[in-house]
Amino acid sequence: MAAPEPPGLLPAAPLLLTTEEVRLLGAFVHGDIMGATMRAWLHASLGFCPRHTWAYAVVEIELWESGVGGRGGHQPFDVSVLYEDLARQLAFRLVKPHGWGRRPEAVLLPARRCYLCTQLDLPGRAGFVLGYANSDSASLAAEANLLRHTRRWCSATADEWAPVACAPCLGVPAGGTGAGSSRGLCRVHLAEEERTGRADDGDLTAAASRLTAVADRLAALASSMTASGRPADAATEASWVEALGFFGGWRFPAFLAGLTEREADTG
Ligand SMILES: [Zn+2]
Ligand SMILES: [Zn+2]
Repeated sequence: MAAPEPPGLLPAAPLLLTTEEVRLLGAFVHGDIMGATMRAWLHASLGFCPRHTWAYAVVEIELWESGVGGRGGHQPFDVSVLYEDLARQLAFRLVKPHGWGRRPEAVLLPARRCYLCTQLDLPGRAGFVLGYANSDSASLAAEANLLRHTRRWCSATADEWAPVACAPCLGVPAGGTGAGSSRGLCRVHLAEEERTGRADDGDLTAAASRLTAVADRLAALASSMTASGRPADAATEASWVEALGFFGGWRFPAFLAGLTEREADTG
């Protein structure tokens, strides 16, 4: 029943989450994700694979109907808390000396497999799913797959994040050439540029600055979703899309915001 782990970035298409993915991700929201052991895993794995990076946000945004702050529910609160942490962690590691014999792009690549993918692959999982899948979890998956609230979020914030989104992800010409031009690259495309020698330590430092700025806005966004928090401005509202775009690629939010043509679902 495990959805295949994509080798790279997602196509511009709906996620079509399975019942089991929604059940596992639902247990994560406001749950396991806050534990120290899980955080260590997520630091090593750089969050989730691209599919589960976006799936995590979809499950929280679509299925959590109540929350504090001006908006109430359907907002990326846990997502903001987690990605503030992941963005700060990676920013710190990007500017540390990478050590003798260690390739510069290594810091941008997961040292551990996506936790959700490992759970989906556990032996006996299929039988477990058949035994436990009930109409509730199936209907929650169906509701999450409508992507109503996630689409609204991605569309409403697109003016903020589209100009800084990774050009190769969106299949558009890069905005400029020369030093600093890879500042807008996602983690996967930046790692590829580093591996092939087209990006250097300056690009890693620029990515670290960008991640730190995003982390600061994520902290403000999470705060805006608490009882005493101030309302978020447009750039702050877009910060979670920017963070997940960096870690998991931009094609999914671009598809939701109508910025890309849908690609064939070839998996
Ligand atoms: Zn995964
Ligand atoms: Zn990219």
